[in-house]
Amino acid sequence: MQTDFDVIVIGGGINGAGIARDAALRGLRVLLLEKDDFGSGTSSWSSRLIHGGLRYLEYAEIALVYESLHDRRALFRTAEHLVKPLRLTIPIYTQSRRGPWLVKLGMLAYDLLSFGKSLPGHRMLNRRETLELFPALDAAGLRGSASYYDGQVEYAERLVIENVLSASTAGAVLHNHCTVTRVDVSGSKVGAVHWQNQLTGQEESAIAPVVVNATGPWVDSLLGRVDTDPIVRQMGGTKGSHLIMDRFDGAPEQALYVEARSDGRPFFVLPWNEQLLVGTTDIRDDSAPEDLVMSGNEIDYLLAELNALFPAADVSRQQIRHTYSGLRPLPHKADGPTSAITRSHIIRHHSDVARGLYSIIGGKLTTYRSLAEDCLKQISRDFDWQLAACQTRSEKLPGAVGFTAAREKTQRPWLRSETAAHLLRVYGSRALDVIALADTNPEWRETICAWTGAIAAEVPFACRFEFARNLDDVINRRTMIGLGPDRGRATVESVATLLAAEFDWNDQERVRAIDEFRAETDRRFQVAA
Ligand code: FAD
Repeated sequence: MQTDFDVIVIGGGINGAGIARDAALRGLRVLLLEKDDFGSGTSSWSSRLIHGGLRYLEYAEIALVYESLHDRRALFRTAEHLVKPLRLTIPIYTQSRRGPWLVKLGMLAYDLLSFGKSLPGHRMLNRRETLELFPALDAAGLRGSASYYDGQVEYAERLVIENVLSASTAGAVLHNHCTVTRVDVSGSKVGAVHWQNQLTGQEESAIAPVVVNATGPWVDSLLGRVDTDPIVRQMGGTKGSHLIMDRFDGAPEQALYVEARSDGRPFFVLPWNEQLLVGTTDIRDDSAPEDLVMSGNEIDYLLAELNALFPAADVSRQQIRHTYSGLRPLPHKADGPTSAITRSHIIRHHSDVARGLYSIIGGKLTTYRSLAEDCLKQISRDFDWQLAACQTRSEKLPGAVGFTAAREKTQRPWLRSETAAHLLRVYGSRALDVIALADTNPEWRETICAWTGAIAAEVPFACRFEFARNLDDVINRRTMIGLGPDRGRATVESVATLLAAEFDWNDQERVRAIDEFRAETDRRFQVAA
C-alpha cells in the first residue's frame, strides 16, 4: 500500500489534469488515475472553443462569463501554440428571436466583461458587409450581423496532455489505463483508493487525506464505488453532438454562430482542422458516456439548419466525414430547458459521509484553470493547509515555453515545411524534441500520414515521453492524425508497426490492436442513417 500522497485525483480529463497540475506546482504529492487515456472523455467531444459564453448572458451568468473571459486571456498567454483567437459572426434575420438591439446589448456587455483583454471589440455589420464576408449565406431576410472574437483550441486533447506533462514535471505520479474500482471510507474519512491496471490486470491501492472525483459525466458512477450509503445523484448530463464535413462550395471561411430556425437554439459552423465542425445539439441523456454516438435525428437537425443557412450548398450525409458525441457533465436538474442549466462548476465536499472526498460537478474546458484553483483553495481551507500561491495563471504549458524562438530552429535538410508546421501546431516548442529524436534514426523521418505530414518519430515520442500506450492514444490524442477526414484509418498499419517495436508486440498482438482500433473507430464516429 502506497501512503505517500497528499491528493489523489480520479479522472484525467481537462479538470482532473488541471487540478493535478495546480496541486503539484504548489508542492503537493499528487497521484492522478485515469481509466482510459488522458483526455479521452468529454474533453475530446467539445466544440473546442475557449469562450466567455456569450449565450450565458441570457441567463444572467455574469460571474461565469467574467471568469471564462479572464481564463481565455490566460490561455492565450500560457498555451499560445494551442489556443488561437477566433473571429465569430452572428447573422441577424428579420425572423431572428434575438434582434439587432438585443445582440448589440450582448456584445457591449461581453466587451465590458472582457475588460483588459488582448482581442479587438465587437463590430456590427450591415447586410452588404455581411454578404461580402459570407457570399453564400441565405440573403432572404438578412438584416446584418455582429462580429466578435473568442478563442479556439483546435486540439483540445493536447491541452489535457500538456497539463499532464506539466504535472509530471512538477512531481505528480500519473497512471492512465487504470480504473478506480473502489474508494474506502473509514471513520467518516476517505480511505484507500483501489484501482486496476487495464493493460496488465494488476490491482493496486494508495491512501491520501484528499481524494478528488474529477470523472466528469462518470461522477455518480464513481460515487457508487465509494464504500458508504448511496450518495444523492449529482450529475444530469445532456448529450451534444457534432458533425465534421469537407468544405462545400461557398462554405464559410470564418466561424459563424447561428440561431437555429427550427427552435431558436444557437449552434456553431466552425472552420476547424481544414474541415468544418458543425454543432451542437443539447438533449437530456442518461446513457453511459462511452456508448454515445450521434443519432440520425441529430444529423437531420444540423443538416436542415445548414441547408437553410446556405441554400445553394445542398449538403447531405455524403459530405459528412464523421461525427462525435459527448455528455456535458452538468448539475442534475430533472426538468426545464437544458440550455438554462448552469455551465458554472460546483466543488462538492462530501464531508457528511467521507471527509476529504470531493466531487467536481460541471465546468467547461475554458475554465479548467480557475476550477483547479478554486478546488485547491477549498481543500486548503477545509484542511487548514498553507499552500504556495497558484502559479497557473502565468506559468506556461510545456509547448508554449520558447514557442516563438522554436519556429526558427526547425530547419533540417530532411524536414518538409508541411511537417515542420504540423509539429509546431501539435507540440509547440516541443516539436524540437520530436525533431531531435528523428535526427537519431533516419527511419523515423519518414512521413506516416500524408494529410497531416506526421512523421514516424512521433510514435516513439508519444510512448516514451507522453504516456501513450496504444493505437487510440497515439492516433487520436498525441499525433492528432485521428482528427483528419479518415480518422487515421490509412495510417493505422504503420503506427501499429512502430508501436509493436516500442512495446515488443508479436504479430498477433499487432493485428488484434489494428482490428480493435478499426472497430471502435467505425462505431464511435459513425454517420447514422
Ligand atoms: P472528462 O473529460 O469527461 O474527464 C473525466 C475522466 O474521468 C474521463 O477521461 C474518464 O475516462 C475518467 N474516469 C471515469 N471513471 C473513472 C474511474 N472509475 N477511474 C479512473 N478514471 C475514470 N467547454 C468549453 O469550454 N468550450 C466548448 O466549446 C465546449 N463545448 C462542449 C460541447 C459538448 C458537446 C460537450 C459535451 C461539452 C462541451 N464543453 C465545452 C464542456 C467541456 O468539454 C467539459 O465540461 C469538460 O471537458 C469536462 O472535463 P472533465 O475533466 O470534467 O471530464
